Amino acid sequence: MEKFDDPYVQFRPPDPTPDDEICGCPADTPVKLVSLRELQGFNPLRCLDCNGEVPVDRLALTLPVLQAVSFWDSQHGAITALELASSRYEAWARQELLDPQSATNQSGLEAARLVNASHPCFFSFFDPDSDEDWKPRDHCPVCNGHLVRYRKGKYPQLLCERDRVVVGG
Ligand SMILES: [Zn+2]
Ligand SMILES: [Zn+2]
Repeated sequence: MEKFDDPYVQFRPPDPTPDDEICGCPADTPVKLVSLRELQGFNPLRCLDCNGEVPVDRLALTLPVLQAVSFWDSQHGAITALELASSRYEAWARQELLDPQSATNQSGLEAARLVNASHPCFFSFFDPDSDEDWKPRDHCPVCNGHLVRYRKGKYPQLLCERDRVVVGG
């Protein structure tokens, strides 16, 4: 049965990521932390260049770093799900995602810093890019500093090297 015809799709375990959605870039390509839990995604490590999933074991992270990433991912995904659900929690969730000082963004920034100790890594900051009036950011949402265009990515992206933040550009 095609997935979109299956009324039980939300109740089934997710399929493995197809091979063509797994990153095949050179080993030193930077990664980014993007929570996809709200879409049944269990691996938040994405390639900065091709946007593909980066198998976690490829980076040989230590257990404390893996735990920090997973702790952040489960909470961030839950808040993102509330933001998408258009429920009474939507405004609260959006505020949490947009506030660089919120607990979820602070733990995401920290998780990216920890990964960064062994592999170049950026934290993907919330971009309300489905808003009608969305425009790429002029400044880093964390330090308000200048953002630098990243030219190697498949999609337009802007970086703050200082905070290790990536946003859509
Ligand atoms: Zn890649
Ligand atoms: Zn910054």
